[in-house]
Amino acid sequence: MNPYEAELEELTAQDRFRYCRTVEPATNWPQVRVDGQLAVDFCSNHYLGLAQDKRLKTAAYEAIQRYGTGSGSSRLVSGTSLPIKQLEESVARFKGTESARIFNSGYQANVGVIQALLGKGDYVFMDRLNHASLVDGCLLSGARLVRYAHLDMTNLESRLRKVPADQRKWIISDTVFSMDGDSLKGQLGHLLDLAEQYNALVMLDEAHATGLWGDKRSSGLVEAEGETERVTLHMGTFSKALGGFGAYVAGSQALMEVLTNRSRGFIYSTALPPAVVATAEAALTIVQSDSRLKECLWDNVRYFKSCLAPILEGQPESHSQIIPIILGQQTMPVCEALLQQGFFVQGIRPPTVPEGSERLRISISAVHSREQLDAFASALSKTVLNWVDLNVLTR
Ligand SMILES: *Cc1c(COP(=O)(O)O)cnc(C)c1O
Repeated sequence: MNPYEAELEELTAQDRFRYCRTVEPATNWPQVRVDGQLAVDFCSNHYLGLAQDKRLKTAAYEAIQRYGTGSGSSRLVSGTSLPIKQLEESVARFKGTESARIFNSGYQANVGVIQALLGKGDYVFMDRLNHASLVDGCLLSGARLVRYAHLDMTNLESRLRKVPADQRKWIISDTVFSMDGDSLKGQLGHLLDLAEQYNALVMLDEAHATGLWGDKRSSGLVEAEGETERVTLHMGTFSKALGGFGAYVAGSQALMEVLTNRSRGFIYSTALPPAVVATAEAALTIVQSDSRLKECLWDNVRYFKSCLAPILEGQPESHSQIIPIILGQQTMPVCEALLQQGFFVQGIRPPTVPEGSERLRISISAVHSREQLDAFASALSKTVLNWVDLNVLTR
């Protein structure tokens, strides 16, 4: 047997083999067909349902008519198109910063930014549950990676204290955690105080908060906590609540110019196509001018959590539209049983989450109907109680 076949066999033996299901649209999203089975989608990060919004589709279509389908090259080679230039200005206004850069994806932004701004001799302090792309950027940069306990500011401080004062330091964190649904809410101020005290710069990843948090512009948790000024670098994506694809980073003009000159993910990759850029612009306009979708989402989240209260007791507390239910070894059987009942919810296993904390990851959207939420809550409660004795789960 060749070594890769052996590796696959080992994954299968450990119940870690993963594959991608085939999903097709069915009537209206969130109705989908998963490997042929009709189901309601509770996996997608399209929290506002914008990927199906007519205004975004029209913007994409018009951009293709005007500019074509591709962008030709990287921006340092063939130039920045007008839609990208305008989108960067829109993002800077949205985030309340001097300047912004568009990257081709959130993964590429995180890897490209950290690799560009940090190097040997620098220190990066990261929450232990940060997104993999932030960790990968750090590994690529050659900086020293120091991981602190999840959302634990005391632990962060004890780690900051050990590093010599004259070393360059960054604190980097997700604002809403993608697999746990908890957040820096109520703790961001403390994190920024520590950054000031220990002379560290701060980068925050708002992938799951962009478009959803903040009273005025819905630009993320940093806006909601009133801390725009004290954050060095803001990052977020167009691929989740904003219903499209691509990512932004925002901060000072000088930092953005360093990225243009040093970030390999920016320099060595073709710019996003016009349709994608136009979609992002349309989504930014919608989330800043119309709060109805966002209100629907938070209503749905509150309602669904109240329906599931008995199951959620003893689970990690979600602050958001992402609701984890840790089921350990029973995760995949529960997942399969739910699909057979018409609910598509994904089981998340290591290495995405730590060993022993295998879970269902439910994401709620503004366009789920009350009937869909009721039916899912009821099927979920019955199925989970059927398969799992919640009291014996080690947490
Ligand atoms: C999804 C995600 C990313 C990656 O964004 P993509 O646009 O999907 O590449 C980065 N950071 C966090 C926290 C994410 O959840």
